Amino acid sequence: MTDKRAPLAWDLQNTFFDSFKDQDDLHCSLVAPSPLHNPLMVSSNSSLAVELGLNPESVNDPEMLRLMAGDFSGAQLQPIALVYSGHQFGVWAGQLGDGRAMTLGELPVHNSNSGKSQLWDIQLKGAGATPYSRFADGRAVLRSSIREYLCSEAMHSLGIATTRALCLVTSETPVYREEVESAATVCRVARSHIRFGSFEHFHYRNQPEAVKAMADYAINRHFPEWAEEELRYANLFNHTVTETAKMIAHWQSVGFAHGVMNTDNMSILGDTIDYGPFGFLDVYNPDFICNHSDANGRYSFKNQPSVGLWNLNALATSLMTLLSSETLVTALKTYEPTFLEHYRDLMTAKLGLVQYTDSDENLINQLLTLMEENQVDYSLFFRQLCLFSSDNQSVRDLFVDRDAFDDWAKLYVQRLNQQQMSDNNRSATMLKTNPKYILRNYMAQAAIEKAEQGDYSEVNLLLEVLQSPFEEHPKAEHYARLPPDWAETISVSCSS
Ligand code: AMP
Ligand code: MG
Repeated sequence: MTDKRAPLAWDLQNTFFDSFKDQDDLHCSLVAPSPLHNPLMVSSNSSLAVELGLNPESVNDPEMLRLMAGDFSGAQLQPIALVYSGHQFGVWAGQLGDGRAMTLGELPVHNSNSGKSQLWDIQLKGAGATPYSRFADGRAVLRSSIREYLCSEAMHSLGIATTRALCLVTSETPVYREEVESAATVCRVARSHIRFGSFEHFHYRNQPEAVKAMADYAINRHFPEWAEEELRYANLFNHTVTETAKMIAHWQSVGFAHGVMNTDNMSILGDTIDYGPFGFLDVYNPDFICNHSDANGRYSFKNQPSVGLWNLNALATSLMTLLSSETLVTALKTYEPTFLEHYRDLMTAKLGLVQYTDSDENLINQLLTLMEENQVDYSLFFRQLCLFSSDNQSVRDLFVDRDAFDDWAKLYVQRLNQQQMSDNNRSATMLKTNPKYILRNYMAQAAIEKAEQGDYSEVNLLLEVLQSPFEEHPKAEHYARLPPDWAETISVSCSS
């Protein structure tokens, strides 16, 4: 008899649920999905399927579509929603939780390099209400699902730690936002979904045992080698500090603004999570605010590094029953130097410099000021700079004030001459460092508009292009140019 169970149901574990089911404190709830009506697979990510050890064909299987549309009949699944709290826009928001996401289980994936197996959370976003939905419907609209699906894969391909996305399903189920839209789901895949807010939740409820249980779970799952170590909780917090600093350095270097850096949207592994009203810089503008709802610019591009530290402080507060203030402060003090070191290294590499030297700080800062004053497109500049040489200074044309650029270019040439590298070699390395393609809002918008008309070709084209953003894609050459004027009129808010 053929096994009728859906592909992912074959091998899923439930270590999160199993770890907490006998505890008094509620860490998660068992949930049931509300299936979507007449679902359609918009896009499936076969390269991620292969990485997860799944048959890529199986992602297009009708059984998979049924599962991803929230119909779990016949599948032996025990989906859960996690509880967490958080600070939203700097204010304590109390209990939040997975209001429209459910973890189907954890998929063990064998890593041939380490010889070990790692668990990946398989989560479905948009499959209906949970005990944490509060006043909302547990659904996700097609437009925001397309943005999450494309951006998480784009970020991964840029080398940034992030959740991933296995497939995207739309349906005829109506969702009511500012207008009626189609309900969709994204299958989100992550090393885990533990957030800063997962710890804050129990700290503010005065449940130190539950804070400890959450930390123990995180350690057992992600760092079993620390399980017996006295310093295991300090190691965990140090790790979160370091990885958050590295993640945000990476965001700054590619020009990514997250938009809603609330503590419930911060992963303890330093993975970029919860893609909402994010945006990539077009022109270099440190004051860039991508979230239309963020009137005061708390989460503006330039504020992200300091918000990262603010959020880590909130996490530190919630770990006070596990760690001394001294240990927490010592760890927090490493944030800024770690951020700066990684940011400098990334920017140095973008400029084609092999190693950072002290004078490079000035070179980088001068360049950024110049780009801001001249309203130069951030990604386009660095991509064109890859071809910069004494014979090719076409990147100069991006600046209104050419003399100012020439002054900077003199410094840059002097600096390049200090290292032993041919223009050709430098160019080849820089082309692998500075992406030709980023997910600009207008590109996502183009894919959304077509998808809303039932044409999913642009979603799939963008997925392909953004999965290799450093390569040439002749059929998507138009997406490597300056954004069109209408791009400025796009407004993205938290509504999703
Ligand atoms: P976000 O700002 O998208 O990270 O969401 C903040 C909180 O609101 C989280 O607890 C989400 O699960 C919840 N939430 C957002 N949208 C919905 C929705 N449509 N239905 C239920 N809960 C939602
Ligand atoms: Mg969130």
